[in-house]
Amino acid sequence: MDSLRTYLDHFVADTLDRCTRCGKCYEACPMTSYAPALAGVSPPSVVEGLLPLLRGGQGTDEAVAWVKICTQSSRCTEACPEGINAMLMVRVARMGALGSLGGEAQMQATEDPLFFRKIEAFAATQLTAEEIEQWHRASPRERTAS
Ligand code: SF4
Repeated sequence: MDSLRTYLDHFVADTLDRCTRCGKCYEACPMTSYAPALAGVSPPSVVEGLLPLLRGGQGTDEAVAWVKICTQSSRCTEACPEGINAMLMVRVARMGALGSLGGEAQMQATEDPLFFRKIEAFAATQLTAEEIEQWHRASPRERTAS
């Protein structure tokens, strides 16, 4: 348990030290267009608002909205010019937003434990945005028949 905490502390310190707040991780995220709260936000400001969560501090509403929709696509990590594991950064921020790092909780764990897995499955099918929209419009009966 100590080693996990040590690893986490090191990861957070290293991330806070090396992150330039460029926002490229946020720009690469395939999920942001699905969160109305994130419409028109500035990518660097979302990251700036997320970093306090890594230490159990308060994040901005936009940062928490980003944390909530993370599906672990890892596109953020691939996009980071500093070689930071941005996906882990967002996951640790999620721990912070849930109040698991000693701060005040800013979100609740989803009531559907399979929610993120379902989103991941969707992403894995590589549907186009139009196809996903059609799926949303279809009735539950049509969905199960297809
Ligand atoms: S892409 Fe990397 S350096 Fe840029 S804001 Fe994200 S984590 Fe920080």
